[in-house]
Amino acid sequence: MQAVARVDLPALKQALIAAVGAGHVRTDAGPDHGAELLVLPASTAEVAAVVAIARTHGVSIVAQGGHTGLVGGCQSHPGQIVLSLTRMALIEAIYPDERVAIVQAGVALEALQSAALTHGLEPGIDLAARGTATIGGMVSTNAGGIMAHRYGVMRHRVLGLEAVLPDGTIYSDMTRVVKNTAGYDLKHLFIGAEGTLGIVTRVVIKLEPLPQSTATAMLGLPSVAAAFEAINLALRVDAGHLRAAEGLWQSYIQLTARAQGWSEPSFPLDQPICLLLMLGGANQASLNEGIEADLCCHLRPSPNSHWHIAGSKRQESDLWRLREDTDQLYRAHAAAPSYDVSVPLSEIGAYVDHVTIGLARIDARLVPYVFGHLADGNLHIVLNRAGPLDDAISSAVEHVLYANLRALGGSFSAEHGVGSAYPPWSPHLIRRSWPR
Ligand SMILES: Cc1cc2nc3c(=O)[nH]c(=O)nc-3n(C[C@H](O)[C@H](O)[C@H](O)COP(=O)(O)OP(=O)(O)OC[C@H]3O[C@@H](n4cnc5c(N)ncnc54)[C@H](O)[C@@H]3O)c2cc1C
Repeated sequence: MQAVARVDLPALKQALIAAVGAGHVRTDAGPDHGAELLVLPASTAEVAAVVAIARTHGVSIVAQGGHTGLVGGCQSHPGQIVLSLTRMALIEAIYPDERVAIVQAGVALEALQSAALTHGLEPGIDLAARGTATIGGMVSTNAGGIMAHRYGVMRHRVLGLEAVLPDGTIYSDMTRVVKNTAGYDLKHLFIGAEGTLGIVTRVVIKLEPLPQSTATAMLGLPSVAAAFEAINLALRVDAGHLRAAEGLWQSYIQLTARAQGWSEPSFPLDQPICLLLMLGGANQASLNEGIEADLCCHLRPSPNSHWHIAGSKRQESDLWRLREDTDQLYRAHAAAPSYDVSVPLSEIGAYVDHVTIGLARIDARLVPYVFGHLADGNLHIVLNRAGPLDDAISSAVEHVLYANLRALGGSFSAEHGVGSAYPPWSPHLIRRSWPR
């Protein structure tokens, strides 16, 4: 980090204004920022010019997309520049027959979803922050979301990309094809690098056919094993394909349902786990019938097995709101400590038991809200405690969550990245601040 006294701010600001125009250099960088300047270039050439200016002035740059990241990756300090990609929001081309889109990095996911929709296509990746999260930010965090079990994470959606390197040169590999074995595939270095290796400016992204219809069901189940049994049945429903399978453990569903005033007389909320399933296919009525006949009717009978199939688009979005409105947790527990782990599917039941017992040993009142992308093993764990935790409790909690995770074959950071929140034993030792 550069000491503020050594930066000639007026000269830096003047140079940035000359590069991108007066209206695009701001002195209010916004929340999370110690940096005095936020700069908004409109093209790759302008990004390169800003990087060159930063080098000349000896200041480092923090790239920013939609600022929806959950691990403080956009935090800046005095003497840095924040470079926002939000003016680079052009969808340059969609090739429907190739199922490929070329976008600037500042395009919001939802904007790409809407543009692809007109061709009966979708980006094959979806997450609740879709309205604001940008493609460049999603590339940089290697975002996952609800369809990763089917279409992969961002790394699997990117065919090519362009980035401005710390020395101001432009790396360009705008490949539009799936197969390319012509040497090292360097684009993967930028995916998940969180802006440490370059600023992503343009992306070639793969699209997928959008199903004509979707159907959603919520299942209340006695155990994680029963939830995986249901997922396996859902993967084989004849009428369509599984788009999403989200797990909502009891404490999570009870809090969000209560906060949203959601209730369904035939669906008690006291089951150990709820499974939210979305299927895609040609026709909603046959999807609903398929869910009932091929899935629900085959569930092992148990007093704790219930299901509710959305009968309308309104009911479908109400069910998804239960999963996506995670703000309710943070309203109940301001700045609650949150974790984002990946666990091999067959270990999830035992892992959640281990975490629940381990947290109770630290403090009997400590309860985890567990929810997440069950079909790919990504669990989000939020504590029922206003944050931040004091250091001793925090390391005890991290020990419970992480100590055996690597040996199990999981990861302490599934899809959010490491940002400024990574623990000291993280292998991610690359410095965040550049260029120098
Ligand atoms: C309600 C909610 C739900 C979410 N759900 C999910 C989910 O299901 N799955 C998931 O993966 N994430 C999820 N997230 C986290 C977040 O949306 C993703 O991490 C997303 O990829 C961040 O995109 P962004 O444009 O907001 O990036 P930012 O937050 O702006 O930046 C994230 C990181 O990338 C860097 N960066 C941004 N743009 C660039 C660029 N062009 N070049 C180089 N570096 C760059 C930043 O410096 C920072 O380190 C969720 C967040 C919220 C608020």
